Amino acid sequence: MLSGKEYIMKKIKKIAATIGLLALATLSLTACGKKKSADKWVVGTNAEFPPFEYVSTSQGVIDKFAGIDIEIIKKIAEENGKTVEINNMEFDSLTVALANGQINIAIAGMTITEERKQAVDFSDPYYVAKQVMIVREDTTDVKKATDMAGKKIAVVMGYTGQTEVENLGYKENMVTFKKGTEAIQELLNKKCDVVVIDSATASKYVKDNPGLVIVEDDDTFTSESYGIAVKKGDTETLNMINAAIKKMKEDGTIDEISAKYAEGADENASSSDAE
Ligand code: GLN
Repeated sequence: MLSGKEYIMKKIKKIAATIGLLALATLSLTACGKKKSADKWVVGTNAEFPPFEYVSTSQGVIDKFAGIDIEIIKKIAEENGKTVEINNMEFDSLTVALANGQINIAIAGMTITEERKQAVDFSDPYYVAKQVMIVREDTTDVKKATDMAGKKIAVVMGYTGQTEVENLGYKENMVTFKKGTEAIQELLNKKCDVVVIDSATASKYVKDNPGLVIVEDDDTFTSESYGIAVKKGDTETLNMINAAIKKMKEDGTIDEISAKYAEGADENASSSDAE
């Protein structure tokens, strides 16, 4: 027979054990919950920039996001045991969305600039591009960037092309559009004379629109590096991204992905309806 004191002690121990078990269960549940969201990266992009990001259509049906950046970020996520959720938004909203935590990562053919570095942290460069001019093939007097003086120039709002044109002093003759496809349409309709945009995207537009040609001026338009952006101070994510970029540069994965799209893996590219 247990004494009264022993009986009470046993009861207390039993209750304590139950509380302990409950606490453990709660803890592991919380851990599971946390693990789940920590396993996913919410990635922002602007699917208006083929061949880096665009909405792919199969048999006329809008399907999914595709492109060089989309493949690269999925591979980087895979390297780090993460899944990705792609959020399509305005290019100009990406840095704000990072700052307020709406997205963890932005990948959008985004040129690393000193100005943007004030707002976000950039990964190591993963792609080198430059600005080029697109004109109609009957335009013979645009050979150099300075030949744009007096011409009507179309750019996309917030892109580095806009900054370059403004720095050249041609702001007065510049018109801005929300999408690259709109600027190209303006050129096709002869409502402007030149479109200034990133090189790989220009190649895609010229390939899709007979009658347009690219004019390069490497003395004026120097190289730009694309970087993946994270919220300022998020070194944990940045380190994971940089380690994967290093590996993918060394083993040729980035070159392979870029070459695949340059060769026309983006045949089904179409613009999205992101406003
Ligand atoms: N590279 C250009 C920039 O950073 C354009 C990027 C984009 O349109 N996605 O401004």
